[in-house]
Amino acid sequence: MSELPNCPKCKSEYTYEDGSLLVCPECAHEWAPQAEIEVADAQKFIKDASGNVLADGDSVTVIKDLKVKGSSSAIKIGTKVKNIRLVDGDHNIDCHIDGFGAMKLKSEFVKKA
Ligand SMILES: [Zn+2]
Repeated sequence: MSELPNCPKCKSEYTYEDGSLLVCPECAHEWAPQAEIEVADAQKFIKDASGNVLADGDSVTVIKDLKVKGSSSAIKIGTKVKNIRLVDGDHNIDCHIDGFGAMKLKSEFVKKA
């Protein structure tokens, strides 16, 4: 099943396809999927836990203890991470953390420093 985009008006996730249109049952908004391209582009902005847009080279602070695969230690809450690089994927921040080395983080677990 292909995942339909959320309603651009009310952000409802219960959208459905009706012919060539997408329909939102919650606010009755109808739109052509082409209009969604802009929304999809807008979603490329990677945001931190508070909704600030992150950019390459930013410094962030980890807001949650994060387990590290293959390591017995965790990245502690409050850890500062300098010079992040944004990448595609589930873990959308590429960075280097002292004591851990190269790491990938999720933007939802950091805050812009
Ligand atoms: Zn809606």
